[in-house]
Amino acid sequence: MLKGRLFVISGPSAVGKGTIINEILNLKDRVSLSVSATTRAPRAGETEGVSYYFLTHEDFEARIKNDGFLEYAYVHGNYYGTPKAHVEEYLEKGWDVILEIDVQGAMKVKESYDGGAYIFILPPSIKELRNRINKRGTESAEAAELRMSKAMGEIEYLDKYDYFIINDDLDEAVNAVSAIMTSEHQKIDESAEALLNRFKEEN
Ligand code: 5GP
Repeated sequence: MLKGRLFVISGPSAVGKGTIINEILNLKDRVSLSVSATTRAPRAGETEGVSYYFLTHEDFEARIKNDGFLEYAYVHGNYYGTPKAHVEEYLEKGWDVILEIDVQGAMKVKESYDGGAYIFILPPSIKELRNRINKRGTESAEAAELRMSKAMGEIEYLDKYDYFIINDDLDEAVNAVSAIMTSEHQKIDESAEALLNRFKEEN
């Protein structure tokens, strides 16, 4: 059976990554979003195991020791990490897996995993990004400013990614991600060998 593909999606906070990804999950079959683990406190409306796995610092560090993360990073004073088991299990059974992670995490995945596709979501403008971050209103002015300066730092990593999408119109952005996912499946890589072998067996 052909293995699934790994899609790493990054971009500044409030750029609309989560909304785009939810639309993709509704649109496409056999796609799984990796749920990250974090030590930060849940925000209003966030659910354990859906938004994140909320762990204590001690639990998180124990899992680091046990090699339980594909990658992890320390962001805004908290740990965030991608649990390894889920990703491996789903890729193995032929599902695509999406990781929504920051640039630090994405660069670490790039070092340890061959063959992922890296997608960067951009705002239409920096002014619009500032509006979207302020509109969230879940945090203090300082926290919003911190996110803004982190966003500017993240954008510097754009050239390390394979694809960029400007999230101006949601439908267009979703279509673009969907098209990237489809074309990644047509790429010739080690799965070509599995395909050739299947044809030879059939012959
Ligand atoms: P938030 O606290 O707003 O949910 O996320 C803060 C930042 O952590 C975002 O940039 C988000 O993309 C990033 N993040 C979420 N999950 C992970 C993860 O598993 N690994 C890494 N490296 N970053 C993550």
